[in-house]
Amino acid sequence: MLTASAFFAVDAFAQSPPRADTPASARTGAQVSIPISAIRYDVTFDSTTALSRTIAVSMSFTTSSAGKVLLSLPSWTPGSYTIGNFARYISRFGARSGSDSLDWDKTDPDTWRIQAAGPGNVTVVFDYRADSLDTALSWTRPNFAFFNGTNLFLYPEGQGADFVATVVVRTEPAWRVITGMTSTGSPRTYAASSYHELVDMPFFVGRFDVDSAQAAGKRFRIATYPIGSVTPAVRTVMFSQMSKIIPQQAAIFGEVPWNTYTLLQVSDADFPSGAAAGLEHQNSHLDIVSPVVVGNPALASLYAHEVFHAWNVKRLRPADLVPYVYDRPQPTPLLWISEGVTDYYADLTEVRARVITPEGFYAATIGKIETVRQAIPTALEDASLSAWISPVNGTSDLYYDKGSLAGLLLDIAIRDASDNQRSLDTVMRDLYGTTYKRGLGFSNSEWWASVSRAAGGRSFAEFERRYVDGRDPFPYDSILPLAGLRLLVESSVQPSLGVSVSADEQGARVVQVIVGGPGSTAGVKLGDYLVSIGGLTVSDPTFAQKFNDKYAAVPPGGTIPVQVRRGTEMLTFTAPAKFTTSERRRLIAVTNATVKAVRIRNGLLNGAGGVVGAAPR
Ligand SMILES: [Zn+2]
Repeated sequence: MLTASAFFAVDAFAQSPPRADTPASARTGAQVSIPISAIRYDVTFDSTTALSRTIAVSMSFTTSSAGKVLLSLPSWTPGSYTIGNFARYISRFGARSGSDSLDWDKTDPDTWRIQAAGPGNVTVVFDYRADSLDTALSWTRPNFAFFNGTNLFLYPEGQGADFVATVVVRTEPAWRVITGMTSTGSPRTYAASSYHELVDMPFFVGRFDVDSAQAAGKRFRIATYPIGSVTPAVRTVMFSQMSKIIPQQAAIFGEVPWNTYTLLQVSDADFPSGAAAGLEHQNSHLDIVSPVVVGNPALASLYAHEVFHAWNVKRLRPADLVPYVYDRPQPTPLLWISEGVTDYYADLTEVRARVITPEGFYAATIGKIETVRQAIPTALEDASLSAWISPVNGTSDLYYDKGSLAGLLLDIAIRDASDNQRSLDTVMRDLYGTTYKRGLGFSNSEWWASVSRAAGGRSFAEFERRYVDGRDPFPYDSILPLAGLRLLVESSVQPSLGVSVSADEQGARVVQVIVGGPGSTAGVKLGDYLVSIGGLTVSDPTFAQKFNDKYAAVPPGGTIPVQVRRGTEMLTFTAPAKFTTSERRRLIAVTNATVKAVRIRNGLLNGAGGVVGAAPR
């Protein structure tokens, strides 16, 4: 998931309950349903249900005997690490077999128990209130709906996730349906091979734009609502960006793991202005964006992040999240790898694809460095675990930016240890093959073992202890130079007079004078026009630079001349010298770096080293 970047606001998170120590089945007793088969979901959204912002759901299945059918709804959507309690949106729940109503009650807040009278067909119906503009939820307009399967599709308790299911969408004849789910060939009918697949493929239903192109040899579709919200010119840019970025991502893992990928995007003025959020799935992702950011080329960073997730987290995933369990939080200390390293690769594959310049990559990196610098020191593992409770102290999203920087530092360290023969790409490809391809998740020790192997056996125990499990400041100054990069801290001094000015046609008019401040002490008054400070004309566009050049080395204390115009008089005062110092950080490519460091820097930016070959830029 991604809910923020430098210019995007963060979306809201719900509160989550404390983690249960025991599995749900143990907590609630025998949460096991009698077996059910031939599971099918009919989802109805048309101009009538749209009036009440409702999606009507009918789940039908076959039982082979009488008994209790226990059906549950997830409480969260993977990728959005917060408890959403989707059952709260359900109303008019009912169950029947033929014309007979079946008795039902609840066994927990999101589990229904239905009394099946005997072998036969059972149908469960409910209405789902779809009015939440959130990538993990469901939302309607008079001519459109998007929904997530976690919101609508009940699963039988205690039966595992390996059941096939059919989804039929019932809507207006002129409306469209799009999803990553496989069509059966029948109209608006889809099949999922497991519950995990079923709930990982969101749908658009209604009126929206859709078209497709090729990316990395596979079909790439862009579906956008509302119609016309993304102009043909912007769509062309989006296709162009993704056709360059996806091959760079695929090169890291050695495969494109989908036949068709679908980018689903909703823009709506109800979303916070300037904000953008995305939620990843195995062959699609859903973005919700503020209309004002549509067409902003920086959205490529969000798309690159969500598409990279198709490998990193949807497939290559911490063992704590394998398999997904849908009825309780699933915290992992490795979320910084799933989210932060994904964000690192979003930037990196953008620069490798020439969608951004190296300077753009450095600027994105500095933004992350600043975020971490200004945050309360928080260990990556702790920030990862805390995702589920969304801390209010400003660190709730820290695993993105800090995890991204950890990825950069590890990448450089591996490249340095292997003379650019291997990299973090090597680690991603290695774990993809040794865990995901074998149906497994990866553990913390497998991650660090793979990092160490890529670095020729070098130990990363201290790195882990200090910078991942611990809260030590990141060692930028020792690691960045290995890639010919340097973090520059530039400080500048400016006069601190304790006055505020407002520009008008006559100059810089004093509009506020702080009592007891240097300006006030000197005699500056409201309505004066500030002419010069320290002999430097304030109307000069280079005043700040000139002032810094003149006074940066002057110690505090002493006096400084201040010239003002009052009416027709020109007055010169002597003010106590007081300065404010500000810092600005920049990441720069060092011009006199060693040959090896330049090789590593080029390896990062071009994708050479590790598994990927590319021409030097
Ligand atoms: Zn993400």
